[in-house]
Amino acid sequence: MTRAITIAGGGLAGLSLGIALQLRGVQVRLIEAASYPRYRVCGEFISGITETELDALGIRDLFSSARRHTTTVWFDGERPMLSRPLSAPAYGLSRYFLDAALAERFTKLGGELRCGERFEGDDEGVVWAAGRMKGESEWLGLKAHFDGLALGADLEIHLNDGGYIGLTRVENDRVNACGLFRRRDAVSGGHALIAATRDAGLALLAERLSDARPVEGSLKGVSHFSLGWQRESDDGRVTIGDSAVMIPPFTGNGMTMAFQSALVSAEPLVRWSAGAIEWNEAAAEIKLAHRRLFADRLGWARMLQSLLLHRLGRKFAAILLSLGVVRFETLYRKVR
Ligand SMILES: Cc1cc2nc3c(=O)[nH]c(=O)nc-3n(C[C@H](O)[C@H](O)[C@H](O)COP(=O)(O)OP(=O)(O)OC[C@H]3O[C@@H](n4cnc5c(N)ncnc54)[C@H](O)[C@@H]3O)c2cc1C
Repeated sequence: MTRAITIAGGGLAGLSLGIALQLRGVQVRLIEAASYPRYRVCGEFISGITETELDALGIRDLFSSARRHTTTVWFDGERPMLSRPLSAPAYGLSRYFLDAALAERFTKLGGELRCGERFEGDDEGVVWAAGRMKGESEWLGLKAHFDGLALGADLEIHLNDGGYIGLTRVENDRVNACGLFRRRDAVSGGHALIAATRDAGLALLAERLSDARPVEGSLKGVSHFSLGWQRESDDGRVTIGDSAVMIPPFTGNGMTMAFQSALVSAEPLVRWSAGAIEWNEAAAEIKLAHRRLFADRLGWARMLQSLLLHRLGRKFAAILLSLGVVRFETLYRKVR
């Protein structure tokens, strides 16, 4: 007789954990506040995850329609800063598709999915995968899909003092444009993402977006979140994905972290379910595994974000890269 698990939150972390647990013989009830499919604020550039990890979660085949990305170009404001091949291919897959496909997989495996309900409570056997903790922050995240938008590389990143915006292609040849902006800079009207891009000093990019066709319903925004480790607790609460830690999004690694977070949590939860360990032991193991896996890349990501969102920092980085003192490939690896 195994003990059941309840997961609060059906984003990437919650759904992939639910699938992994169902595959390992643990009964899961997953409570999701919203429903599927739906557009999410996310760059939809998935990098650093291995096929072995996707296999272990039981979700590799869901990536078969993903775009494979191999090149990137970065801009300092309007000026090209660097153009490179990616050291390993990345996936381009929309959350609109992916979350719904994961939800379907979860229910097919016998998981109980309840949509349109907010979970509250903190009992043993509850895993929090409810995304970012609400907090005060200067950031505004915006995204939209566009048709008819040509790109200079598989991943374009446009950096400025007011934030950054990344563009990448997802399935069906659509382009996902997603950015992080300082809230105080967002002032003008119209399509919010195009306006924020213009207000961030990226007029040429705003013009390109204006010439393309925004996909109806795909414009989404988030605010009130803070990057880094989320609420620390010693009370045996298990948190995974963004509920545990949020890496600066320019890295394109948060989705991978959500999957990896689910994967390192699965085994301790299976042992708790089988009665082999206490809940507090499982919680401590999961917390330690998160620290081991994510602390270094989070440190690098924070340092790089501070550097890249300041004019002088970008100039300094460009000089180091052009002199070969620092290699783009090394930095890319450090945040994965
Ligand atoms: C601007 C921006 C750009 C990004 N770009 C990228 C990128 O290019 N590549 C990348 O890898 N990552 C990117 N990320 C990060 C990535 O989106 C997240 O790391 C990822 O979504 C985390 O997944 P999650 O399952 O932990 O949380 P979420 O996907 O946020 O899922 C949490 C779920 O919990 C539900 N929920 C919340 N509260 C409750 C409750 N009380 N009860 C029930 N359900 C609840 C929500 O409805 C939601 O469905 C970006 C993030 C931002 C903000």
